Amino acid sequence: PFFKEFNSKVFPDSAKLLAKLNANENPYGPSPMAVEAFKNATQLGNRYAWRELFDLMDKIAVKEGVKIENVMMGPGSSDLLEKTAMVMFAEGGNVVSADPSYMSLIKVAQATGASWKPVPLKDDWSHDLKGMEAAIDKDTKLVYICNPNNPTGSMTDHAELVDFCSRVSEKVPVFVDEAYMGFLEDGDKKSMVNLVAEGKDVIIARTFSKIHGMAGLRVGYIVAQEATLDKIQDITRGGMGITYPSVYAASASMDDVEFQNKSRKLNAECREFVYSTLEKMGYEYVPSSTSFILFPIEMEGEKFLEKMTAQGVGVRAFDIMDKNWCRVSMGTMEEMKIFSTALQKVLV
Ligand code: PLP
Repeated sequence: PFFKEFNSKVFPDSAKLLAKLNANENPYGPSPMAVEAFKNATQLGNRYAWRELFDLMDKIAVKEGVKIENVMMGPGSSDLLEKTAMVMFAEGGNVVSADPSYMSLIKVAQATGASWKPVPLKDDWSHDLKGMEAAIDKDTKLVYICNPNNPTGSMTDHAELVDFCSRVSEKVPVFVDEAYMGFLEDGDKKSMVNLVAEGKDVIIARTFSKIHGMAGLRVGYIVAQEATLDKIQDITRGGMGITYPSVYAASASMDDVEFQNKSRKLNAECREFVYSTLEKMGYEYVPSSTSFILFPIEMEGEKFLEKMTAQGVGVRAFDIMDKNWCRVSMGTMEEMKIFSTALQKVLV
């Protein structure tokens, strides 16, 4: 692997931060409708939320154009990334994914006994699909694609990815993590979820943590072939981890399209503001399709984190291809102004 994270264990005390921009959280959430639904459901907490969970799955199935049998719920998509890895790599094998990318599934695959075959992103930060296809061998159990990708924020060409997923899934299942897809204006069109209805062996992960602003309420799901989900659900139960109120909150949030539109719009405005800050400073950045921006810094990552924290700003720092990079999440415009001022002080 050619990337590592600086100081990832040190999460500055968020109460002390003026701008918490280190975890890709949505500063506007949860939707008021979700909060109301959550509150009203707390009294039902003596029960398991089985029936209500099925209602939510029905609603999700309609939205995604699949059957309820194609949906598996979990307390956040992390849980489902991890459970998929535990089941798929129970007998070892290897996982092919980009480098740098989101490591949750890969780490569990490795801990379960699989090996990781990293394929560097291309110069334009998109997935090297040809390289990934070439990396697949007889021991490959799963291909993991994060689109848009974390920590780069970059997208891979839609038509090329459809072609890749369609062909490659004949040989090996393809897992597409679409955690940030909701921030795109045309996210529904860019999703790979239609391939599930077409019968392809793809697994699409989605979360209520990002565009819905529910990171702390823990709801996510995967959409896949029934046979694939059966394998995972034979031994694990994702829905058991979701609290009764969160089931109601997720359902209410799906109805609050206005909230999602507002989050998308304000997020895009903050991205433009950060781009212009960086341009004025003479810094480059990776154009983002997400709620965070990655840009190279001319300072050692750990030192940069210390200095930004001293300014009351929480961000993340990476070493990618022997260069130092900052990843900043979009907060409110007020927080982005605090970030911008701090950055100009720190990177003088
Ligand atoms: N996938 C990606 C690409 C992410 O960036 C994250 C969280 O930051 C997740 C999955 C997991 O999020 P959650 O477990 O809150 O759904």
